[in-house]
Amino acid sequence: MNKTFTQIWNNCLQIIKDNIPESSYDTWFVPIVPIRYLEDVLTIQVPSPFFYEYLEEHFIDLLRKVLRRELGTNAKLEYSIVVENNPINKAQHKSYNLPGKSIGNIASQQLNVTNQHNTIKNPFDTHGTKKLDIDPQLNVNYTFDNFVEGDCNRLGKSAGVQIALNPGKTAYNPLLIYSDSGLGKTHLAQAIGLEIKERFPEKIVLYITAYNFQSQYAESVINNNRNDFMHFYQMIDVLIVDDIHEFAGKEGTQDTFFHIFNYLHQLGKQLIITLDRPPVELNNLKSRLLSRFKWGLTADLQAPDYETRLRILQKKVYNDGMKIETEVLEYIANNVKTNIRELEGVLVSILAQATLNRRDITLELTKQILGKVIGRIKRELSINYIQQTVCDYFKIEVEVLKSKSRKREILQARQIAMYLSKEMTDFSLVQIGAELGGKDHSTVLHACKTIKNLINEDENIKNYVTDIERQLKY
Ligand code: ADP
Ligand code: MG
Repeated sequence: MNKTFTQIWNNCLQIIKDNIPESSYDTWFVPIVPIRYLEDVLTIQVPSPFFYEYLEEHFIDLLRKVLRRELGTNAKLEYSIVVENNPINKAQHKSYNLPGKSIGNIASQQLNVTNQHNTIKNPFDTHGTKKLDIDPQLNVNYTFDNFVEGDCNRLGKSAGVQIALNPGKTAYNPLLIYSDSGLGKTHLAQAIGLEIKERFPEKIVLYITAYNFQSQYAESVINNNRNDFMHFYQMIDVLIVDDIHEFAGKEGTQDTFFHIFNYLHQLGKQLIITLDRPPVELNNLKSRLLSRFKWGLTADLQAPDYETRLRILQKKVYNDGMKIETEVLEYIANNVKTNIRELEGVLVSILAQATLNRRDITLELTKQILGKVIGRIKRELSINYIQQTVCDYFKIEVEVLKSKSRKREILQARQIAMYLSKEMTDFSLVQIGAELGGKDHSTVLHACKTIKNLINEDENIKNYVTDIERQLKY
């Protein structure tokens, strides 16, 4: 029953292929090369660190299931990453292993989050160490230097810089950073942490995702060492908690975090928190915790404009030591508008394809690849993007769309935005209403019915809706 690693991986691929869109499969799975299978660990080679992150972020559940099915519950995945400075000539070839952070034993993995190639120790494990040396769990690439500034993020960035100069001593405590996904929350929050560590090496900085905080807490309850857990967090000088909306409904975790928050805040320690929506929209978070968030500054990160998108691409290309024609970058910046993670994803896909097929990165190749990738992006339309497209179409401002204005054109545009959000995404009526300046779900329902009827009765409306729909789908 000794299967080779190639057989194992081919079996996995068959299942994966049936479960994801073809374009995703082509982009993210075809380039993977299996390289070994040893003691329950399957090692696969991926073309870049970004590739690895993308897989972990988007396909980890699928990979986990498939691998367990193929190899049993002890299966682990390891990545080997090819680092190539020059994508066309396979000149420099270096590879290193990153332990798969999400596959395998969940309990041990949560405290073993890996940023680079070193594994991080259980942070509670402070016994015997006199001087605390806690790994801040920061990704060294997420610096201020690498964070391109634009109108979209200026407030957050400048608050971040001031905090880094004077942690805990500014009015920005806590600092809350919110945005849709992929717009730089994690990067900015970590940049602040890195800068503080650079300026004040003696300060204890810790980055933790809300998800990991929550599971550490749950574990501490099971192991009966909740006090150790509290004490550990009370020692931190700069605590960064990412994606705090994950605390929704987790009351025990919220209470514990509330105490830690108060304790640290009283001592003038810095708290940095990220979330995926404005704090007022955090249902299921206890109000006493929410009220604490008002003490500091709330900064939102918007989708970047064209100029900023282009500068982000240029920076990334420069940092990776690549050379790509400006017209190619301009084309990408023009076509990938919603989020920075996608922007980077597209760049990596193009790079991967060019490397694998030994082709130059031309505008033509870029258009081909983008055609595929955009299909995938569009399937994940955001409400914001739909609103923006509707507003562009009718030449009105998004604020006006979200306002209470009952002017006929505005009302109609708003109803069309609601209708399309319902038809083209999986968001609920409540979510759609909330994103449109806090309309309630019955308003959204009414809008959907109205537009549905009008499409059959009014040729103009029908044309508007089909036009916009086409734009959204490309
Ligand atoms: P979020 O946490 O909001 O989902 P991330 O911080 O993970 O978003 O950002 C997604 C990707 O985009 C990361 O690779 C990050 O480095 C990059 N990124 C985000 N904002 C910027 C920026 N202003 N300049 C350069 N890269 C950015
Ligand atoms: Mg994030």
